[in-house]
Amino acid sequence: MEHASSGHIPHAQLIVSKNGGLAWPAVQRYIQMLVCAQGGCGTCDACAQHRQMAHPDVHYIFPVVASASSGGTSDVFLPEFRNFLKFNKFPVVRNWIEALDAAQKVVQISVKEAKRMGDILSLTSHSGRYKVLVIWLPERMHDSAANKLLKTLEEPENKTVILLISHDEESILGTIRSRCQTIYLPPWGRNEVERWLIDERRMDPNQAKILSSLSAGEPGIALDFLENRERLIPLAEHFVEWLRLAFKKDLPGLQTWVDHVAAWNREQQRDFLVFSGEVLSQLERKRQNALRGFALDWFPEIAFNADGFAKLMDHHKVLFMHQTLDDAYKDVGRNVNARLVFFDASLLLMKAF
Ligand SMILES: [Zn+2]
Repeated sequence: MEHASSGHIPHAQLIVSKNGGLAWPAVQRYIQMLVCAQGGCGTCDACAQHRQMAHPDVHYIFPVVASASSGGTSDVFLPEFRNFLKFNKFPVVRNWIEALDAAQKVVQISVKEAKRMGDILSLTSHSGRYKVLVIWLPERMHDSAANKLLKTLEEPENKTVILLISHDEESILGTIRSRCQTIYLPPWGRNEVERWLIDERRMDPNQAKILSSLSAGEPGIALDFLENRERLIPLAEHFVEWLRLAFKKDLPGLQTWVDHVAAWNREQQRDFLVFSGEVLSQLERKRQNALRGFALDWFPEIAFNADGFAKLMDHHKVLFMHQTLDDAYKDVGRNVNARLVFFDASLLLMKAF
């Protein structure tokens, strides 16, 4: 993001990070520089208001449940949203949907938000400084809201800054993307996440090691796992069972296994494949005695001879297995019949051993 003191503030910026990544804190720091007369002192009234997400010149739009009673606009949900970000300043989309209790509902930036966007932009700035509009997840915008945004981007208003935070850049309208300055924030990194869990979240060092190893370097993901350990248990169980069955070349057993996994929803199936890929990499590092914090140690209730399996691995097998998991991940995303995808992957896994 352009430094506020450098003078030129781009009208629209698209900040891209992975789910659970660094985008939110980065955007919040940036806004602090915009709203504070001292360039982000952290102690003045404007900074304090902004920290509470209550600065009159900073507006938030984010996906909500489009129900009739709530009006379907994010201002109604702002208190919930503030609370949500208080627990995890690196938010994960799924957790927000759960906080809304909306697993089966459409969660989006609704048609009604288009009008609200217009109202926000026509307001005069309270402080005489910048007016800021933050849009979390522009990839979840209803078409009419997206068109409204597009018009705004085409005819920028003075001293108005629009900050879009996305975890899925490809799903944003190309015409919107092309009018924004895009900034990519890479993962924080596993070591940084580990240190943060210990120093800031006061976590036990062993647990911090395991969680950071599973986080892919995104702090929000580590917190998500911490809060939702029970969601990972079936993934861990099925991964261990999969390796065992494939190693024993137990075809009927694999068929039953496929039946179970094919009954999950698509998101669970993709979580499973990502989780499996991470544990597989860890087994490879274990073989080389280069592993810190093995993920399955977090599940003492699941019996698994990790050292034994690590010895069965070699570099080529691991590469082949990763390829198998990646292909399955793509197929699941393309809506290929899940039974076929996982049966095919099981045969390949058998072949690998
Ligand atoms: Zn200040």
